[in-house]
Amino acid sequence: MKIIRKPSVYLVGRQTLDDSEIARFLADHNVVGWSTDTPNAAEALPEFAGRLCYMSFAKPRPGGNKTYLGHIKEVGHGSVLEHTVWNFIITGVSRSFTHELVRHRAGFGYSQLSQRYVDESVADFVEPDCIADDPKLHEAWRTAVEHAQEAYIKLVEGLQAKFASIEDKTLRRKLARQAARSVLPNATETKIFVTANARAWRHFIELRCNEHAETEIRIVAAKILEVLQHEAPNLFGDYEFIALPDGTRAARTTFHKV
Ligand SMILES: Cc1cc2nc3c(=O)[nH]c(=O)nc-3n(C[C@H](O)[C@H](O)[C@H](O)COP(=O)(O)OP(=O)(O)OC[C@H]3O[C@@H](n4cnc5c(N)ncnc54)[C@H](O)[C@@H]3O)c2cc1C
Repeated sequence: MKIIRKPSVYLVGRQTLDDSEIARFLADHNVVGWSTDTPNAAEALPEFAGRLCYMSFAKPRPGGNKTYLGHIKEVGHGSVLEHTVWNFIITGVSRSFTHELVRHRAGFGYSQLSQRYVDESVADFVEPDCIADDPKLHEAWRTAVEHAQEAYIKLVEGLQAKFASIEDKTLRRKLARQAARSVLPNATETKIFVTANARAWRHFIELRCNEHAETEIRIVAAKILEVLQHEAPNLFGDYEFIALPDGTRAARTTFHKV
């Protein structure tokens, strides 16, 4: 049984722009000489969408993209932030984590490892640090998880035998696994593909990279924020990390729920 104590976050996709189509749109609308000072599509796109609302390409105010997006955050016109998306894969996380994550609905899309199709008899398990750092608690946790996995394996075998008359092997396995998984703990490791737009990521970070959030989701939220600050400082640079007594981090900003 493999025990996991750190989540992994993979940024697998990011926003792109089609410069030639933007140029064609501007030419069709007699806009001459507009450009933004950010080379970053994730930052340029919401500025472009915002400027389209007022056709304010001709005489941009000074300060460039950073000031423009700062103003959007200040006045809370966050809908233009919905155009920019990032795609992440998150692994080494527990089913408790994903249960909390998928409560975020607006602007999020998910694809998660299926416990009906995938064999969990070789699953890994995610142990919280506060259990792992105490030998007695760790032992109690490990025993409980091992027993649960043993029970799962026995149930899959028993259910496969019970459904032996079903000819379709894939269906038989699915029926066995979907029932047997009921004994697996929240600690069971899972993988999830998450796509969200900039506005949705900001709301997620505000709620989950927060001292009141649960520890595992806070750790993931901090990792995602770190990536997004690198990806698009004009969109996420307003957050400041603070160290919490348990060694994890929270983030603060003055711009709430844009
Ligand atoms: C510290 C903490 C403790 C929590 N404890 C619990 C708990 O004990 N039990 C529990 O069930 N949940 C709990 N939650 C989850 C919480 O209730 C939310 O489901 C979760 O944080 C997602 O927030 P959201 O709905 O704002 O996000 P999203 O679903 O992403 O929505 C974003 C925003 O869009 C708007 N919106 C979305 N859907 C609708 C809609 N249908 N109608 C109108 N407006 C909408 C709202 O303004 C919303 O804030 C907790 C969350 C946190 C951070």
